[in-house]
Amino acid sequence: MSDVTQMSLKAVRDGIANGEFRAREVVDGYLARIEEVDGKVGAYRQVFGDEARARADAVDRGEVSGALAGVVIALKDNICTKAGRTTCASRMLEAYRSPFDATVVRKLEGAGAIVIGKTNLDEFAMGSSTENSAFSETCNPWDPDRVPGGSSGGSAAAMGAGLCSAALGSDTGGSIRQPASYCGVVGMKPTYGLVSRYGLVAFASSLDQIGPVTRTVEDAAVLLNVIAGHDERDSTSADVGVSGELPDYAAGVNEGVEGLRLGVAKQYLSDGNDEAVKAAVDGAIEQYEGMGAKIVEVDLPHTEYGVPTYYLVATAEASSNLARYDGVHYGHRTEKARDLVDLYATSRAEGFGDEVKRRIMLGTYALSSGYYDAYYLRALKVRRLIKQDFDGAFEKCDAIVCPTTPTPAFKRGEMVDDPLQMYMNDVYTVNCNLAGIPGISLPCGFSEIGGKRLPIGLQLLGPTFSESKLLRIARMYEAANAFAGECAVV
Ligand code: GLN
Repeated sequence: MSDVTQMSLKAVRDGIANGEFRAREVVDGYLARIEEVDGKVGAYRQVFGDEARARADAVDRGEVSGALAGVVIALKDNICTKAGRTTCASRMLEAYRSPFDATVVRKLEGAGAIVIGKTNLDEFAMGSSTENSAFSETCNPWDPDRVPGGSSGGSAAAMGAGLCSAALGSDTGGSIRQPASYCGVVGMKPTYGLVSRYGLVAFASSLDQIGPVTRTVEDAAVLLNVIAGHDERDSTSADVGVSGELPDYAAGVNEGVEGLRLGVAKQYLSDGNDEAVKAAVDGAIEQYEGMGAKIVEVDLPHTEYGVPTYYLVATAEASSNLARYDGVHYGHRTEKARDLVDLYATSRAEGFGDEVKRRIMLGTYALSSGYYDAYYLRALKVRRLIKQDFDGAFEKCDAIVCPTTPTPAFKRGEMVDDPLQMYMNDVYTVNCNLAGIPGISLPCGFSEIGGKRLPIGLQLLGPTFSESKLLRIARMYEAANAFAGECAVV
């Protein structure tokens, strides 16, 4: 058997189905590699070794079957699992055990997948580097001095280092796509409402989406097939697939891009982009043209307002969502309280980290009387303008091609004291969430810095529910480039 840890999800699944190797060998292979390298990467918060082995044995005995039978999955630790804890990398939820599984977990397990563990993240998914985890650090598998991105940094690093066959992350303002781009893997944020949020611990409910982090584009399609679809437990779940008419996202993935129109927006190709990122994205656009796609210019004039708009909407929703953690309803309870009000205040002071507190304060301010109209309401209006920019662009093109981030992974510690600079890093990812449209990041070559190869991400954005086409466009680029699917040497 060749090394399972370097394989795609599809190769693992097919290998087990064809009897080339057993699910138990796959799980043992990943557990051995986690043991060997995760001390250096820090992707996992918890590993469910015994449970994963037992489930693999059940797959091998033929007791568990399905489209993902034996496939080994890592989950971001803000996705509720009955197994282990769901900490959101916060002291507030350090001891929290969910009484239920998230819908995506039920669906994955229903398809035969094996959950191997929970991955590290920025506390409550707030951040772009995974440095806001209350518990541990995660390194970029391509260069341990650099961040893996965030907030799904653990899921992307696990994938980049070959520590699972696929992972799930959550994306509120880029948290799947940005770490995927930094770690040289594929990350997709589906259309808002396509994947159930039931059991995803809420950060900003109008923006949050769960999505796949995978080695290949086709793997993202295979995973999306399992996790997508209407869920009556999520009131914002889209009315798709109710009578079984969801598309097979993997079916047309190899169809080609001839005749498709790809949009290029000057606002995403700014002079501020790193030279290597610029060259890689320009090269990708040329390649697409060579494959028969028509390149058209589109205008997204409100792009620059995305970051301030996002950081108002997201913090406002976070301040409301995080009100439930008061040491009584949910979360850490202080032992030092003098009275009830002090119990709430001290529990929150002890339980939340600095970035979460900063967001709660910002959001509370933006929602408070006298400031609501000036900040929150205005942000909602700009959000609409950003959505209209995309609507106009998609009249002219099938998808927009752009970088996922302006630079490759930055150094650990470089931005921890400068939250504003960290927020600016999200400039190309947040508008996708504000507009509710799908986006995918895929490997687009490397930047060579200090003898290290740092992955660059290519981002594709499409109209709502255009996942099939987006995956097809992504797959064509991947198929034409040898570096896609490479795993970091840790
Ligand atoms: N970096 C963004 C933030 O800090 C995005 C987070 C996310 O998508 N969960 O809010």
